[in-house]
Amino acid sequence: MHDLHQLGVAELAALLKRKEVSAVEVATRFLAGLGGNPHNAFLDIDSEVSLAQAKASDEKIAKGTAGPLEGVPIAHKDVFVTKDLVTTAGSKILTGYRSPFDATVVRKLREAGMVTLGKLNCDEFAMGSSNENSAFGAVSNPWESSHVPGGSSGGSAAAVAARLTPAATGTDTGGSIRQPAAFCGITGIKPTYGRASRYGMVAFASSLDQAGPMARSAEDCALLLSAMCGPDLDRDSTSLEVAQEDFARDLRKPLASAGKSGGPLRIGVPREWVEWQNGGLRANDVSTDVIAQISTALNQLMALGAQVAPIGLADAGYAIPVYYIVACAEASSNLSRFDGVKFGHRAAQYGDLLDMYQKTRSEGFGDEVKRRIMTGAYVLSHGYYDAYYLQAQKIRRMIADDFQRAFAECDVIAGPVAPTTAWKLGEKSDDPVANYLADIFTLPASLAGLPCMSVPVGLGGGGMPVGMQLIGNYLDEARLLNVAHQFQLHTTHHTQAPGAAA
Ligand code: GLN
Repeated sequence: MHDLHQLGVAELAALLKRKEVSAVEVATRFLAGLGGNPHNAFLDIDSEVSLAQAKASDEKIAKGTAGPLEGVPIAHKDVFVTKDLVTTAGSKILTGYRSPFDATVVRKLREAGMVTLGKLNCDEFAMGSSNENSAFGAVSNPWESSHVPGGSSGGSAAAVAARLTPAATGTDTGGSIRQPAAFCGITGIKPTYGRASRYGMVAFASSLDQAGPMARSAEDCALLLSAMCGPDLDRDSTSLEVAQEDFARDLRKPLASAGKSGGPLRIGVPREWVEWQNGGLRANDVSTDVIAQISTALNQLMALGAQVAPIGLADAGYAIPVYYIVACAEASSNLSRFDGVKFGHRAAQYGDLLDMYQKTRSEGFGDEVKRRIMTGAYVLSHGYYDAYYLQAQKIRRMIADDFQRAFAECDVIAGPVAPTTAWKLGEKSDDPVANYLADIFTLPASLAGLPCMSVPVGLGGGGMPVGMQLIGNYLDEARLLNVAHQFQLHTTHHTQAPGAAA
């Protein structure tokens, strides 16, 4: 008998296809593991919904009309709206909200055959780096429950790491797939902006928000990403008009011929982030345990046939102020829809309409969300728009141009996901700026709209996972997944599970 919890997406899909196990059996077992809500990872579970989907999957398998991932369980970050389950985006203002439709990503994964296990906890409106901003309580890191799982897709990362689900969706506006994946020792990829439809994703910062898969391996991520992406122009005007792709197509390419020209893969390491010298790394702003693991990983990639050289990304150093201006500006506009009239919570007692808005929003939003709405309204206001918002947009363009210069010299960029491993719950919760600073390495690729991922590369101090970031040029997801898969074929970091797994 297989221990289904220990299997990944590809393995489960194969077992289901061979009818060695039924979708109902798989769903039943995974649902049984969710009792007591380990790590506070889930916000909504409805076993009737999951089992009905599993039953439908079994019928398709019997009829020979199964999708590529038929019967494999997945859980969705609570920013994806779902017809059959509550969607809160981690906010009190959406308590109990039920959408009349499924997000495109949710629909597409269901069409590929996946069974929804439930909705996953996250920072309120995906704003955060530690999952401590959820109105429904923090998520704990399965590797060490006194530590944060990262954010904002902390529930997704914790659930996959603890083997509560083989796969989860996440969203990444400025790092929220990569950083929690790194902190929890799993693999996650954010595709090129526009690859995955934003239809039905509760909006935070629309020019940055992007969905992606979080799973245990690059191979699993490739299968999930292939099912998630594709044009959706009728519903999302920023959706890219590029056909659905098989992102697993290049997984087996050896790195010695994985470069753009068919030659060896060229990896660029930004010298502003970490200094690559004589086969080793040095860095000022990155903790030594993180550097050590990434250095080892780069040497392993070299042994597999890749070349590693320093590149320049000078303007990426402005990413934190630029991101927090752009993201807050867009958030202040997007969140104006939560006014007590159309969605969710409305204050019980109020005078006139303005009073109703004020009380509803004061009660419904948490501190971090309010802080960002105020910052956003400020940078967009008359007299400050030019000084802040417009300036930020210009520097955003410079950062994107910087990447294009770098990609003339290399095929992928590698570096840390975060300066440290997961910190302790509460350690930075009173200091928003300390949280923002931890995003230094994830924000640049988000601002440029580039595909990027996090790959587990071992354990740092205190036995906490370290993630290496890989960034590709536009639409180059297949190459990123190729590099990550080749690395994972020759290493075991991605197979390590936290000892305290539920
Ligand atoms: N940590 C960043 C923020 O707080 C990124 C969040 C995200 O990617 N959703 O905005």
